[in-house]
Amino acid sequence: MSEIVLGIDIGGTNTKMGLVSQSGKLLAFETFPTKGPKDFDEYQKELLIVAEMLCDKAKIKLKNILALGVGAPNGNGVNGFIESPPNLKHWGTFDFVTPISELFGKKVFLENDANVAALGEKMWGKAIDLQDFIVITLGTGIGTGVYAHNKLITASHGLAGEGGHIIIEPEGRACGCGGKGHLEVYGSVTGIKTTTKEMLGEDLQFRDIFERYMAGDKKMMEVIDQTAKYLALGLSQMGALLCPQAFIMAGGVASLGSDFVAKIQEYYEEYVYPPFRGKTKVLLSEISTKEGAVLGAASLGFIRYKESN
Ligand SMILES: [Zn+2]
Repeated sequence: MSEIVLGIDIGGTNTKMGLVSQSGKLLAFETFPTKGPKDFDEYQKELLIVAEMLCDKAKIKLKNILALGVGAPNGNGVNGFIESPPNLKHWGTFDFVTPISELFGKKVFLENDANVAALGEKMWGKAIDLQDFIVITLGTGIGTGVYAHNKLITASHGLAGEGGHIIIEPEGRACGCGGKGHLEVYGSVTGIKTTTKEMLGEDLQFRDIFERYMAGDKKMMEVIDQTAKYLALGLSQMGALLCPQAFIMAGGVASLGSDFVAKIQEYYEEYVYPPFRGKTKVLLSEISTKEGAVLGAASLGFIRYKESN
């Protein structure tokens, strides 16, 4: 029988869980509201209940899975702690890996959500043949997962690779982290909404922005063009340091598609350190936003399990 990993993506809104085979096939998938259970004790019980449901669906036994791979905001792969996630502040900072491995009787591997996205691209996505790349997740915020010399870069404390907090406007918009002018408040879904308000004076949901852009609305195209410039500014700074083979754009904003990514590439070539022009491709992830986080989490399970044995 092929090996199976339980992938768990802990989001601020929903927790997604799936059983994933070695070839990246999603065998069963479930989701529940992360804030449904009242505290972390209740949340653990929910994880186990849903895991058993998934195993029933896939007709396998929980004891036969290989390991658990978990992506979480501020998940630290070095100490196994979740450290005060911004959208789940009531959880605080705590050891996630020890109680969950005891509960499941399995090895549990944890990383922050953007790092998990990078591992997913490496195992089953656009980065299969790449050694040096950066995955940029563009959702409510911006996460970055950095691969260099074929290794995920986390640094000794476990949390390195926060490209969303590169400064692109020193006196710019306030960032949720307490800083100012960070890429995240310009290039994320939240950032595009703010730019729309600034340029068009309209308060729009991302869905409306997306539809008007797709319909070729001229003013909205200017907003998206400005967003591509902001992103290219951030990427060119990451590029100056790491000169990756590719940036892989994932998450909600990436749904703006290939013209948007081509714009980012065009501005990137303008802003990046000149000797690095033409060395880095800006690509669009093909892993679905709905299930991608679970696939990424599962790839963490496969990759780290193999490293640990
Ligand atoms: Zn910030």
